[in-house]
Amino acid sequence: MRPALRRLFLSAVTTDSEASPDVSGWHTRCLHCRTRLHVGPGGEPLGAASLEHVVPRAWFGKRAAAALTARVGDAPDDARNLAIACTRCNHDKGKGPDARGPQDSRAHEVVEALLSKRLARWRDAPSDDRDGID
Ligand SMILES: [Zn+2]
Repeated sequence: MRPALRRLFLSAVTTDSEASPDVSGWHTRCLHCRTRLHVGPGGEPLGAASLEHVVPRAWFGKRAAAALTARVGDAPDDARNLAIACTRCNHDKGKGPDARGPQDSRAHEVVEALLSKRLARWRDAPSDDRDGID
């Protein structure tokens, strides 16, 4: 797995107040369904863990999504926009709300609620965070 992608996984878990580290990596819960998920110490996803872009990358730069993207600094890979989700939930979101686009009011609502959930789980990364590994 590319180091850049592992760094994004680490950004997501180190800033997730529900993630706890041990020698085998990080343990957290899916942002959607709260299934237990596991990310290795170097940021590699284990089992069903996948990286969720809460506001979909394709929505950035679209006027209908401007209020949402502003909440994450208008940067898709900002840690505030990253979360760990199980592959099934991530896939369903990709096919559903993400694909319908920000001009769809229901899709907008779903993403907005998910972003609030993510931000409620926010914590500042520890100063000795592991982002420096790569
Ligand atoms: Zn899930």
